Amino acid sequence: MSVTFVCPDAPRKEVPCEWCERYRAESPELLVDGKCDRYCRGVEQVSDAPEINLSNASAGDILDLLELGNPAEPWGELAVEDIPGILQRIMRVLARSESRKHLLAEGSVSQEPRVGINEDGLPAIELGPKVIYGGVADEQIVRRVTSLRTLLVWAAEHNLTVSWG
Ligand SMILES: [Zn+2]
Repeated sequence: MSVTFVCPDAPRKEVPCEWCERYRAESPELLVDGKCDRYCRGVEQVSDAPEINLSNASAGDILDLLELGNPAEPWGELAVEDIPGILQRIMRVLARSESRKHLLAEGSVSQEPRVGINEDGLPAIELGPKVIYGGVADEQIVRRVTSLRTLLVWAAEHNLTVSWG
């Protein structure tokens, strides 16, 4: 299961079907009337909007971190006028992560054991240098939040709603 963040109303353009092209190049005997299957029109609609695909757990972590909807129900919508507020939260998350970077530096293993949360959501003793939010290493959070920022900025510039599910 995964959650995709998209701009559902982003303008789309027609491009050649990727599967048709691949079959034509690699296994032309599989083509049906020159198409990848008999229902394919030979073209598909794509948008220039960035899309982000996360596992349900990762999406839940991000939604929780940004106080965006209910992490246990990872589907929702963000209106254009609400994007700036979420971008501010993202900036805070990134700033906080930057200020903790030294904790992630190689060799800076903390001596103090502390209780974190492992990938299964269970408490686990952490001895390493990683800062943990809800079981996810800081650097992954930064990468995902940065991708989401790219999408939100794009959506705001194009005056479009963002949805996920
Ligand atoms: Zn096709």
